[in-house]
Amino acid sequence: MQLGLGHRASACPACGEETSPQPLLEVPSTDTAESFEIASCVRCGLACTLPVPQDLERYYHTDLGSSVRQPGAATFRFAQSFMLGAEARRIRRAANGATVIDVGAGSGAFAWELQRRGHAVITADGRPERPPLTRALASVPHRVVDFETGKIRGLEAPGPRVAVLRHVLEHLRSPAAFLAQLAADGTWTFYVVVPNVGSLERRLLGRSWYLWDPPRHLWHFDRATLTELLHRAGLEVFDSGHDTVPNLVPSLYRWLRLRRGNTALLRWLHPKASLSTLAAPLNWLVPGNVVWALASVRGHCQGRPETSVRSKTSPKVNPAVTQQASARSGTQSATATGRGPRAQRSRPSLA
Ligand SMILES: [Zn+2]
Repeated sequence: MQLGLGHRASACPACGEETSPQPLLEVPSTDTAESFEIASCVRCGLACTLPVPQDLERYYHTDLGSSVRQPGAATFRFAQSFMLGAEARRIRRAANGATVIDVGAGSGAFAWELQRRGHAVITADGRPERPPLTRALASVPHRVVDFETGKIRGLEAPGPRVAVLRHVLEHLRSPAAFLAQLAADGTWTFYVVVPNVGSLERRLLGRSWYLWDPPRHLWHFDRATLTELLHRAGLEVFDSGHDTVPNLVPSLYRWLRLRRGNTALLRWLHPKASLSTLAAPLNWLVPGNVVWALASVRGHCQGRPETSVRSKTSPKVNPAVTQQASARSGTQSATATGRGPRAQRSRPSLA
C-alpha cells in the first residue's frame, strides 16, 4: 500500500490494512503545477494523497503554505475569535485546569484565545520563532515540535496535558505514531480538528474543494476514519462533532486560481481576506465541513481528570504504534523521508 512514505509500502494508519488503496479522483494542487491522486483504503475508507513527495518542506514555503502563520484581515480575525471561543469552551470542559499545548499553533490565534480565558498554554510548532499573535505574551512559552516523530523539544515533566491539534493530523506522514508519541510523553487528552471529507460541501464542490490541499494534506478524514485512527493510536473518543468554517469563497479562490484568474480578484477572494469571512453565513447551507474529536489515553478519565493520579501513572498507549513512533524518532526516519533535522525544524506551522 503506497501510504505514508512516498512510494514505500506501509499500512493504513487508521485500520492497518495493507492492500493498495482504491483511486477516487485526481486533484490539482492549488499553488503548484502538480496533480495528485486521492485514493481510499479499501477497508476503512480513509483517503490519502498519492504520491507523497519525499520533500514536503517546499510546499510549506509557497504563498498558501506560509499563509497559515499570517493572522489575516481584521474582519477575518474578528469572526475567527467567535468560532475559536466556541472551541475553547470544549477545551475548558476537557482540560479541568491542565496545561494546554497548542501543537501546530500557526498564527497563535487559538493559543491567544485560550490564555485570554485563563488557561496555562504552551505553543509548539516546526519553527523556533513564536507565533505572531503570542509573540508578546511572556506567559505563553513556545517549543519546537518535530512533525515526523511527535517529539517536542524542551517540554517539561509529563502531564497532565491537553494537546490541541487543529488542522495538523492531515499533514503528518504518520499521524497515529505522532499521537502515540505525544501520549508516551505525557499528554493524556487530545483535541483534534480536521477537514471533513465526508461533508456535503466536499461532494458538491468536487475537485474545487479548497480543503483537499494536496500535497500538504496527506490524509482526508471523516468522523468514522478519524475515530478509527485515534483508536489505533491508543485513544478513546469521548466527544466529537462537526463544525462549519468559511470555505465557499476559498473554494472559489481555488477554482479561479487553477484557471489563472484575475490577480486583483484573487486578492479579494483570498481565504484570509475579509470577503471569505463575510460570506461565512452562506456556508451554513452546506454545514459540517470540519470534524472534531476529544479523546483521551485509554484507561484514563477524560474531562474529569484526577491530576494527582494522572501524574503518577503511565498512559496506556497502543504498543504497536508507540514502537512505530520510537522507530521514527531515530535516524531511520530522517533517512526514509529524505529530510534531515534542519528541514524538519524549519517546517512552517500548520493551523
Ligand atoms: Zn484503512
